[in-house]
Amino acid sequence: MMQFRRDAFLVVAEAALSVVARPIQIAPSAWASANLIVPDGPRAGLAYDMSLTPYVAEPLDKLGPDSAENEIAVMKAAQTGFTIMLIAALGHMIDRAPCRAMVIQPTDNAVSKFNRDKLDPAIRGSDALKKKVAVQASRSSQGSTTYSKRYPGGSLTLAIATSAADLRSDTIRMMLRDEIDEYPDDLDGQGDPLEISDGRQISFLASGDWKRADVSTPTIKGGSKIERRYEAGDQRRWHVRCPACGDAFVFEFGPNFRFEPTFPHKAYYVAPCCGSVIENHQKLDLIRGGRWIATAPRPGAFPSYHLDALSSPFVPWDEIAKASIAAGDDPARLKTFWNLWLGLPYEFKGDAPDHVRLLERREDAPPRGHVPPKGLLLVAAGDVQMRGIWVEILAIAPDRQTWVVDAFYCDGSTEAPGSLSDPPDSGNAFSQLLAKTIGREFPDAWGGVRRIDALAIDSGYRSHVVYATVRACQRQHPMSGEDMLFAVDGRDGWGKPPIGTPSLVDIDLSGRKVKKGCKIWPVGTWSLKGAFYADLRKDGLRAGAEVDPEGYCHFGTWLDETYFRQLTAEYLAEETYRGRAHKVWKLRASERDNHFLDCRIYNLALAEYLGLSKSTPAEWAKLAKERGMPASETPDLFRRSLADGTSTPAVVDMGDDEGWDVDEQLKRLGALNAARFGQR
Ligand SMILES: [Zn+2]
Repeated sequence: MMQFRRDAFLVVAEAALSVVARPIQIAPSAWASANLIVPDGPRAGLAYDMSLTPYVAEPLDKLGPDSAENEIAVMKAAQTGFTIMLIAALGHMIDRAPCRAMVIQPTDNAVSKFNRDKLDPAIRGSDALKKKVAVQASRSSQGSTTYSKRYPGGSLTLAIATSAADLRSDTIRMMLRDEIDEYPDDLDGQGDPLEISDGRQISFLASGDWKRADVSTPTIKGGSKIERRYEAGDQRRWHVRCPACGDAFVFEFGPNFRFEPTFPHKAYYVAPCCGSVIENHQKLDLIRGGRWIATAPRPGAFPSYHLDALSSPFVPWDEIAKASIAAGDDPARLKTFWNLWLGLPYEFKGDAPDHVRLLERREDAPPRGHVPPKGLLLVAAGDVQMRGIWVEILAIAPDRQTWVVDAFYCDGSTEAPGSLSDPPDSGNAFSQLLAKTIGREFPDAWGGVRRIDALAIDSGYRSHVVYATVRACQRQHPMSGEDMLFAVDGRDGWGKPPIGTPSLVDIDLSGRKVKKGCKIWPVGTWSLKGAFYADLRKDGLRAGAEVDPEGYCHFGTWLDETYFRQLTAEYLAEETYRGRAHKVWKLRASERDNHFLDCRIYNLALAEYLGLSKSTPAEWAKLAKERGMPASETPDLFRRSLADGTSTPAVVDMGDDEGWDVDEQLKRLGALNAARFGQR
């Protein structure tokens, strides 16, 4: 009876306090453990278990009002579970320390996804949040959608890094910037989106009452925004304690991470302190007992964090071994492996290969206009000029070897849309382009004929004529049923996917709205160029190598110097812009034209769209059969595939809508982990 009275008194006293005082403060990590459910992925709907990703707690708590820190940066691998940190920080803020807050995502699509798949489910699943948050109807501005949410004491805006207006308006106390490597360097001359959004917190600088988090997987060395932010901070790494001698060290991809080159990989780690062997099954306990230690502590440096997949409980070490083997020495795959698995920026070599060397290694076969035996994909791209269109037709093998099937210039007017029904020698360059690509049959190596799988037309110039041409002869691909004509638009930036989500234009030449609009496909040219130039540098049989390596570029003897000069016309320059170093592609001083390079990049983007990086050996075999390749030839196509019969995991997300699709990767790895270890 006495006990009851005591409890009852406490309850009353607490209730009385809560009327007058601020909500009881607990750290965001403690709040998340008590209130948050996992919004998506294999553990969706379950209570958030902080012990699964113990390294999230410290940076998360820096975002709470009890921490004296104002800003943090997290440079991470894809499979590390840091997205939940942003959700937990927002949940805690709304429930315990409400203020004006903003989340910035790189694209419209990323904002919708973040809201739909993460934030809304987390709010709906939490009793503490769902009664506080009123969802405001989304408003549309400048073709994008802005979401905002209100709660007692504040509001949350979800903004897009490409909208200067969004980034510039009100002042905000908490700003969370996600996937910052995908933000543009400059917003149409108005400045760096990071700097513009920094400006929204200036009024809080005096009181020191502001919070900022930058989170991203990195892109390329020297051009990575998150690398710059990480280096500006004190560079904390997750240290584990050696089970044998007690020394602290970080699991790192390097000589201490060892595995068999063939399946099963039996990956293990050799402790750098005493040489004792750590098996995969010991990893989880060691990670759980780990802690952050700054590797570059200095006065004024804010906490910055780096975590790779080796320290992720979601990723078995064998998977990392497999991904690294699959990446081989292929630059596009290596970039993905470094960015997504190691959470590190990748260094592209930027010098253009020498055009004379390429000229010297030309080959006699196949003849011009013929598709080589392994050329399972056949794509074409046109670069539109004030007069005329440059065109390259490219055949591509599953291992990314390429052959130029044809390359030429359509001389003619580009002022009016073309049509397939025009005569091939028409004075309209678009009509010529159509006749010489999708209107044409190409002899293959098996006595059959092939047709173009997809045609890309650059819409950066004469945009409306290109749209009208594409609209007029929009065709369905015979196999996929998808459109096979693409109006493409090259985009700068290192975080852009090879081919992104299209936007729709439905205005015709005279400004009238038309029924069947034209899609414009954004092509992320920078990374494609980096990978292509690395491929161009590879030596093959002609240079005495044992085989033509993956990605090897074949050229026919019929190609002339103009072609090679254009193909090698650019280089990767380091530019200082607003006081910061950026890596950008530039035209070499000795060259005027890069049209065939643009064509090649669009062709490679089309190949990604058609599944070059994503298709499994079984899918390639099916395609090979449909295209008349004899069964005896097919095994040679798949030198890439791994010993356990699966395809290349390091490239699962090349070409996804969001570039490096963290969610998909996490889902896939989570499911795999659950199957292997049981749900923990
Ligand atoms: Zn040791």
